Amino acid sequence: MKKIGLFPGSFDPFTKGHEDIVFKALTLFDEVIIGVGINSTKKYLFDLENRIKHIESHFMNHSNVTVQTYQKLTVDFCKDINAQFIIRGLRDSKDFEYEKSIAHMNIAISDIETVFLLTAQKYGAINSSIVREIYKNNGSIESFVTNSSLLV
Ligand code: ADP
Repeated sequence: MKKIGLFPGSFDPFTKGHEDIVFKALTLFDEVIIGVGINSTKKYLFDLENRIKHIESHFMNHSNVTVQTYQKLTVDFCKDINAQFIIRGLRDSKDFEYEKSIAHMNIAISDIETVFLLTAQKYGAINSSIVREIYKNNGSIESFVTNSSLLV
């Protein structure tokens, strides 16, 4: 059976830290699906279409990485796409505490396990919300985001 992992997130925007997690996940999974979650109550800075095109541009040469959107419980989306695992990145203990409770809830309502991958130290400080603040204030986000020109 093919091992399929879903990497869910808002990816507003997809950063070098996220990219690093996907490459690490590819060493463990046959297929990685990047799931861009759509939450109707959340406001995003970057357009959904651009976010998808931008993420896809990182994995042109990897046919086993695809990008999909979803608007339901993450575990229900896993079932739709036959993913047995959720992949999440951990930067620090704060991420761990937050992610641990979500993972426990997910296993309580499904049989989907969460696999945590540690962020490379050099990307540990990258945070999408800080990247958005820099961008909104006309700063350069090149150091944190690959192919950032595709976001606009
Ligand atoms: P969400 O809104 O679901 O938290 P994000 O797009 O912020 O979505 O993050 C998606 C996943 O990527 C989460 O598991 C998060 O911990 C992880 N992540 C965020 N930033 C980084 C980073 N710099 N390095 C590695 N993983 C990260």
